[in-house]
Amino acid sequence: MSAPPSGTAGPAATDAPSVAAYPRRRSMGVDFGGTKLAYAYLGPDGIVANQLADPAYLREGPRGAAGDVLACLHDLERRGLPAPPAVGVGVAAQVTEAGAIRFAPNLGWRDVPFRSELENAVGLPTVVVNDVRAATWGEWQLGAGRGSADLVCLFVGTGVGGGIVSGGRVLEGASHIAGELGHTTLVAGGRICHCHNRGCLEAYVGGWAIAERAREVADAEPANGRALLDRVDRPEEITAATVGHAYRDGDPLARRLVEETAEYLASGVVGLVNGLNPRTVVLGGGVIEGLPELIPPVAEAVRTRTLPSAADIVRVAKAQLGESAVAVGAAFLAGRLLGPGEP
Ligand SMILES: [Zn+2]
Repeated sequence: MSAPPSGTAGPAATDAPSVAAYPRRRSMGVDFGGTKLAYAYLGPDGIVANQLADPAYLREGPRGAAGDVLACLHDLERRGLPAPPAVGVGVAAQVTEAGAIRFAPNLGWRDVPFRSELENAVGLPTVVVNDVRAATWGEWQLGAGRGSADLVCLFVGTGVGGGIVSGGRVLEGASHIAGELGHTTLVAGGRICHCHNRGCLEAYVGGWAIAERAREVADAEPANGRALLDRVDRPEEITAATVGHAYRDGDPLARRLVEETAEYLASGVVGLVNGLNPRTVVLGGGVIEGLPELIPPVAEAVRTRTLPSAADIVRVAKAQLGESAVAVGAAFLAGRLLGPGEP
């Protein structure tokens, strides 16, 4: 059994959950990611998380997914763990309330009755949710947002997604997509975003946007961009990770890019804190994991630039569940399908 890694920034620290925090019912969550399959098994003793190589859904599309869920169940069996009575699934997609996938741009799936297909093939009650929504549930119930009834999660990866808990409820919105915090406009008339709007938060701090900004500045200032360009064969290969590595090596241009990214992120989070009045802001995702240095300037901006009543009670924390957040949250939601466990 492994507890999730812990890590926080801001005035109040939290620890990894005690065993008492885990649900009594066992359940499994599966994260059908854009490039990998991860699962988490949740039970009274904690979390078991694993990834499976070469999942079928990446080759065969949705019809391969049931076999992948069964492979996760077999992996649990091999570890001697009791079979879970329910399964949760997180997928990077617009998901209807009934668990159908309306559109999954990264996977190329459209209009798939995913929940009913999985239930029929696997034979277990199943819940299907958007991956970022699942990650929000994970961080809220078992991660850095534990105990907060008012929480904003911002996951900064290639794209930027989020989730909002207000008054102890995850906000769903009128058409089930509330939490798309990456697409709040930060700069009027600014950089073009993948959503077709201009100036979105994601168009500045998403991994793709950091890479794009880095390529542009390396192109415009080749002498300053030398450290970035030397790390790749072609300028198009510069990624957010390239910037992170150059930053670690003390490259001034990478430092400038990271500082600018921190300022954009801080400005976005200040707006979210004023708008939503959370007690906790959880920052996670690949960009944050790779550049945790982004968190202190965001925490400082939240402390000094938000409205005093909001600033007084809010803390900024690093996500605790890492790459397992989607699977853990999906497992938690599957457990809720079954109602409270036996005493
Ligand atoms: Zn956008």
